[in-house]
This record gives sequence, structure tokens and C-alpha cells, in this order.
Amino acid sequence: MAEVLVYVDHVDGAVRKPTLELLTLARRIGDPVAVHLGANAAEAAKVLAEYGAVKVLAADAPEFSEYLVAPKVDALQAAYDAVSPAAVLLPSSAEGKEIGARLAVRIGSGIITDAVDLEAGDEGPVATQSVFAASYTTKSRVTNGTPVITVKPNSAAPEAAPAAGTVEQLAVTVADSSKGTRIVSRTPRESTGRPELTEAAIVVSGGRGVNGAENFPVIEALADSLGAAVGASRAAVDAGWYPHTSQVGQTGKSVSPQLYIAAGISGAIQHRAGMQTSKTIVAINKDAEAPIFELVDYGVVGDLFDVVPALTDEVKSRKG
Ligand SMILES: Cc1cc2nc3c(=O)[nH]c(=O)nc-3n(C[C@H](O)[C@H](O)[C@H](O)COP(=O)(O)OP(=O)(O)OC[C@H]3O[C@@H](n4cnc5c(N)ncnc54)[C@H](O)[C@@H]3O)c2cc1C
Repeated sequence: MAEVLVYVDHVDGAVRKPTLELLTLARRIGDPVAVHLGANAAEAAKVLAEYGAVKVLAADAPEFSEYLVAPKVDALQAAYDAVSPAAVLLPSSAEGKEIGARLAVRIGSGIITDAVDLEAGDEGPVATQSVFAASYTTKSRVTNGTPVITVKPNSAAPEAAPAAGTVEQLAVTVADSSKGTRIVSRTPRESTGRPELTEAAIVVSGGRGVNGAENFPVIEALADSLGAAVGASRAAVDAGWYPHTSQVGQTGKSVSPQLYIAAGISGAIQHRAGMQTSKTIVAINKDAEAPIFELVDYGVVGDLFDVVPALTDEVKSRKG
């Protein structure tokens, strides 16, 4: 069976969920071979093997953390040369897309970004994308070279499928031309204790209807009762009520959770662009004519200051 390279997203060897999703999708096309760059490959390999990696190609070099993405592209290209894969899969993070695009240019291949599904096809893997502010669903196939495909988080439920996960060292030569941009400082983001917005299984977002930064704790309380991330519309962000890093939409983050709850958000096309691929959408809005109700699975016409706290209490009581 053909091998499929899967670029591993991890924090010091702790493999992040989008990589497990990639392994699950990769198995539809061939045998997943994980590419782990950085420390703690052996620890990561246990998880990667559990989710189907037949092999883990590992490399560690100071250049991976000292410079921006180019040394990682050198490593992924070395893995590509070693394996001659049927496809290369990466998570659709900003970094994943940059690494994927650079690799595609180097190996003369086409790239598909932000896929939300992947299936095997007679002439190569077929990727599903949600395009034009999520108003169309398209299926595409790379026609030139080895397909490089980035996949959005939450596009598949990770399924365990134990495989060997044998760790092999990958020889990487970092080119001088890959050391053009050095990282001079790093500031860890202050942790909210909530899941990362783009990876969260549940997102609760607030909009202009929240009516002030001082009211956002109402949204946060519901999010915390569900173990969710908190998002915001651009109107709420522009008003300074919530950080820009939480903006969902065309000019913010794109999310695709199992459950998206929009409170006090009208459903402008630019907001939809970032959340329309969510599996189940719930809206709370006091205007029954609000456009958000056109795309919801469940809608509540009501004042969010009544509905959201009641929902939070109900979730808490059911959790016991
Ligand atoms: C180029 C461009 C890019 C953009 N990018 C983005 C983007 O990335 N993300 C984004 O979100 N927007 C984006 N926008 C802005 C977008 O067009 C809308 O202006 C914005 O999404 C509106 O935010 P909102 O729904 O919170 O506010 P509004 O449209 O003002 O809606 C507020 C809603 O809250 C309801 N409401 C009020 N009070 C209550 C209450 N007490 N209880 C319940 N409901 C209540 C109202 O009925 C209303 O439907 C962009 C615009 C442009 C031009």
C-alpha cells in the first residue's frame, strides 16, 4: 500500500488532536508515515502508532526552533525524498499551510488547503473544501505531482488503529538559504485554561448583542460549563470587548467544531465564513428575523441574558 506522509503538530512531544485526525484520514489513502520534528519523538511515537502510523520519521535540530518555517520544510522534503509518498498531509494551521505551500513549490506539486474531508480516488486523493464564505462545497484533486493537502481541525473524529510506529531517524541538512529569518524572542500566550479556538470541539461565541466587555463572563460561563472555547464576532472585537485572537470569521479564525453556539450574533456573511462548517449550529438572538437563523440546527429567539445563564445552569445541573 502507498505511504502517506503526515506532518506531526506537537508541543514537546505531546501530539495535538489535529494530527490524530490527519492519521485517521491518511488511512483512507494509504499507510500513514508520521514526520516528527523536534524533541521527544519516542513519546510522540506511542500515540502516533496508536492512531495508525506505520513508521515515525524523526529529526531534531536547533534550527527548527531558531528559525521560521524553512528548516522544517527542508526536513519534510527529506522525508518526501525518503518515502516517495502518495500524498503529504498537514494541519491547516498558519504554519502547516506555509510549510505545505513551500514544499509543494519545491517538489513541483499542487496544493489544496483547508480541506474538510478527504477520500481515496481512482486518480489520487479527493479533498472536500468549503469555499466562497462556505456557500459552496467543492471536491478537488491535485493533478500535478504528489498532492500536498492541509486539513482543517475537527474534519474527522480520531479513530485508534494500532500500527507499528517504528521510529526511524531522518537525516536532514538545513540549507543556509533556510536560515533567512531568525526568531529573536518568544512570549507564551497567557493561558485561559480553555481549549484552543480552532481545535475546540465546542465553541461559544458572543457578538454585539453581548453589549459590553463586562458582560462577556456570561458567554465564558456557558463555555466553561461545556469545556468550550470562547469566540467573538468582529463587532464585539472591534468594540474592544474581546481579544482579536478570538475573532471568528473571514478576517478572523476559521472554526469547525462539533457544536457552535452563537449568542447575540446576527450572522453576517463574513462571520458565517468562519463557522459555517460547524457540525451543529445553535443561535440565541432576540430578533427572529436575524440571518443567523437561516443556517442553524437549533435556534432560540430570546434575550441572551435570560437564555444563556439558564442554559449554563441546565448544563451544570445535568453534569451533576
Ligand atoms: C471585509 C470585512 C471582513 C469582515 N470580517 C468579519 C469577521 O471575520 N468576523 C465577523 O464576525 N464579522 C466580520 N465582518 C463584519 C460583519 O460584516 C458584521 O458587521 C459583524 O459580523 C456583525 O457582528 P454581530 O453579529 O456581533 O453584530 P450585529 O450585526 O450588530 O448583530 C448583533 C445581533 O445581536 C442581537 N442581539 C442584540 N441584543 C441581544 C440580546 N440581548 N439577546 C440576544 N440577541 C441580541 C441582535 O438582534 C443582532 O442580530 C467583516 C466585515 C467586512 C466588511
